[in-house]
Amino acid sequence: MLNERSKKLFIEAKKVIPGGVNSPVRAFKSVGGDPIFIKKAKGAYLFDEDNNKYIDYISSWGPLILGHAHESVIEAINQQSHKGTSYGIPTELETKMAELVVELAPNVDKVRFVNSGTEACMSAVRLARGFTGKDKIIKFSGCYHGHADPFLIEAGSGASTFGMPNSPGVTKSSAKDTLLAEYNNIDQVMQLFEKNKNEIAAIILEPVAGNMGCVLPKQNFISELKKICLSNDSLLIFDEVMTGFRLALGGAQELLSIDADLITYGKVIGGGLPVGAFGGRSEIMDFLAPDGPVYQAGTLSGNPIAMSAGFAMLTYLQQNPNVFASLNEKTTYLSKGVEERLKNSELPFQINQLGSMMSLHFTNDPVIDFTSAKKGDNDYFKRYFHAMLANGVYLPPSAYESYFLNDAISYEDLDHTLDALSDSLSFIERK
Ligand SMILES: *Cc1c(COP(=O)(O)O)cnc(C)c1O
Repeated sequence: MLNERSKKLFIEAKKVIPGGVNSPVRAFKSVGGDPIFIKKAKGAYLFDEDNNKYIDYISSWGPLILGHAHESVIEAINQQSHKGTSYGIPTELETKMAELVVELAPNVDKVRFVNSGTEACMSAVRLARGFTGKDKIIKFSGCYHGHADPFLIEAGSGASTFGMPNSPGVTKSSAKDTLLAEYNNIDQVMQLFEKNKNEIAAIILEPVAGNMGCVLPKQNFISELKKICLSNDSLLIFDEVMTGFRLALGGAQELLSIDADLITYGKVIGGGLPVGAFGGRSEIMDFLAPDGPVYQAGTLSGNPIAMSAGFAMLTYLQQNPNVFASLNEKTTYLSKGVEERLKNSELPFQINQLGSMMSLHFTNDPVIDFTSAKKGDNDYFKRYFHAMLANGVYLPPSAYESYFLNDAISYEDLDHTLDALSDSLSFIERK
């Protein structure tokens, strides 16, 4: 596969964009090599600047659950764009979109739209702090909630209960209000509540984690968190930026039958345009300005083109709920196929899957949290990634990212992917 034009474009990009990309994972740092540049995409396929075709397993990191350039979404964008791109004044469309989200999302009486998942999580945490009058939050190692300061925190050393900044520019004082626990570890959460009595505003988590590979919550983990929150007057925040409108129409709340206090959305909710949202009970949401004291705003929030794309996407999903079962079947077919092929190889591996999210870690130990996710062998992963790419399969370029299938992927595409894996095995094993 030739990648000359992509290589040239990357060199040009690096002159004017830090690292040549507008979001770090796109630069292929953890798998090595140069990123490909995309010219266009349709359905299940990406086409790069050198006219190579790839089956896309990231779907823009989640939003394009129906595949690229889905007609209903494109039509909605086209229609709205002729009426103006932004007003900064209320529109009926925002209310229609909010009504639809309230109808589809459990435990959401009111919803505020923003422009990204980061903004949604950042705002939900501020609201939780304002509502409870407490400062600290608990997050789990390996869960990603966007790049706002309170989330760029890693576990402190030894007995320290405080988190440490994991990026320069994040202050120690932001870090001290974020407490870290391991995913699936309820004892650590209980200890944090004991040591920080009446100080914890909220627990925020990915109800099914997708940013350390795909990691499933253990039985009762989240229901225990819910109980702890209830007995401590803290809020449970589900970050459903990845899982919302993907694992089910009602997201992880519906799938796991657990009610969160605040829920954040992004990705699928915008149909491929920049939309995030956070919602919850009226009692909490009414704490937001202009009715309440907690400030939150946005020049382009509720943007009419973004809202029309999101509305078209959610309406399609509402009218075609079979998409979720179909995606689950396709992803199960893929994960079983991958398992079969890897079983016949020398490679250590773990596959985690739920619905249309899945990941492959090259380790013999079950992947249940960030510590176990880190045991995956990255040399195998790099070779796997590049071998698949060379065979026209675009996988997430990091072992810590989940695959996101889109419903445009056919069984033929899945078989092609599995054949590509069979062909790559001896190359991956060689190391
Ligand atoms: C992608 C993601 C975010 C951040 O969303 P952006 O739109 O990239 O800011 C937050 N939380 C989760 C779980 C995500 O997967």
